[in-house]
Amino acid sequence: MSVEHAAYIHIPFCISKCHYCDFNSYPGMGEVFDSYAAAVRKEINLAADGQAVTLYIGGGTPTVMTEQHIYSIVEAVKIGLSLSNMAEATIEANPATVDASKLEGLLTAGLNRISFGAQTFEDALLGAIGRKHTAADIYRCVTDARLVGFNNISLDLIYSLPKQTVDGWRDTLRQAVNLAPEHVSLYELTIEHGTPFAEMLAQGKLQLPSEEQQIEMYAAAESMLEAAGYEHYEISNFAMPGHRCQHNEFYWRNEEYYGFGAGAASYINGQRMKNVAYTSDYISRVTETGSAVETSEELSIEGQMGETVMLGLRLLEGVDLMAFRQRFGMELDKIYEKELERLTQQGLVEFCDSRLRLTHRGVLLSNEVMAEFVRSDSAKAAV
Ligand code: SF4
Repeated sequence: MSVEHAAYIHIPFCISKCHYCDFNSYPGMGEVFDSYAAAVRKEINLAADGQAVTLYIGGGTPTVMTEQHIYSIVEAVKIGLSLSNMAEATIEANPATVDASKLEGLLTAGLNRISFGAQTFEDALLGAIGRKHTAADIYRCVTDARLVGFNNISLDLIYSLPKQTVDGWRDTLRQAVNLAPEHVSLYELTIEHGTPFAEMLAQGKLQLPSEEQQIEMYAAAESMLEAAGYEHYEISNFAMPGHRCQHNEFYWRNEEYYGFGAGAASYINGQRMKNVAYTSDYISRVTETGSAVETSEELSIEGQMGETVMLGLRLLEGVDLMAFRQRFGMELDKIYEKELERLTQQGLVEFCDSRLRLTHRGVLLSNEVMAEFVRSDSAKAAV
């Protein structure tokens, strides 16, 4: 019997490198687009007999490739993994890399959801973080996407940027809401090792908002987006009714997924696998052997239980206790009795409608909640 999975495809190319980015992505490299797309198609064709019920093409900046490359990859997923024309099929796009004609090509290729990396509507900040687009580009590409027929649009926004003010962030949220995307994802800036921002921070040249300002920014997003009709359904994600990201819900429910492309991770039959990250290694390995898997790990039952709780708590509706029992044959509240007693007393989690979920305070302090489960050996003792 074929099993339903999500399918993720990583495109590791960008027009340039943003100052905060440590993703597996490289500027230039147009000369390998053909061979990369061919390797991805081959990897998809060789996948087992699973079925993809969602597709997400991320990166990097997938839209630096041509519509033909993208079309060929989507076709491979449709044929090899029986992706239906009705399934949610998302592509990430940088506003600097699309015009109306390209957007039309993406829709024709079978993508029906587009996620724009807007980040902020302040041009000075866009320049300071190394983005190659302006606020006007965000307006242009969202308007064009609507005109060509996309009716499921998401915007990514980043807060806690250097020199960003709470008022500036509120203005970005206001402009985002004015564009009426169906979905908004928030990212708090983190300074990653090896990036230009990490170097600037070490030299004392990066002026970041205070912790109080960060909290104020998150609270502003929550109240402004909810007031505009968005459902806050995951710690960092907001959606208009019926427009949650179905692909990411696979991850949050700790269900299995395929990952194709350089550095992509898969979770299939209880095994977590990761492809080799560097593009040329990926292409040569897939071309020669059909596989680019570099590491593979069998997840223990206690590991799977811990991940199911931590990922599930990211969803504001929480973890379904019955589904947990059906999956693992054990009661979540018995396994993690100690931790849950502590977290409940601190007002960070609660039981509601046969689910375990974060309280509002728990959402704000989610790192502390997750740390309890990372440290926990309760699941190990239970199996
Ligand atoms: S566009 Fe995205 S993936 Fe590319 S460098 Fe910028 S943040 Fe990184």
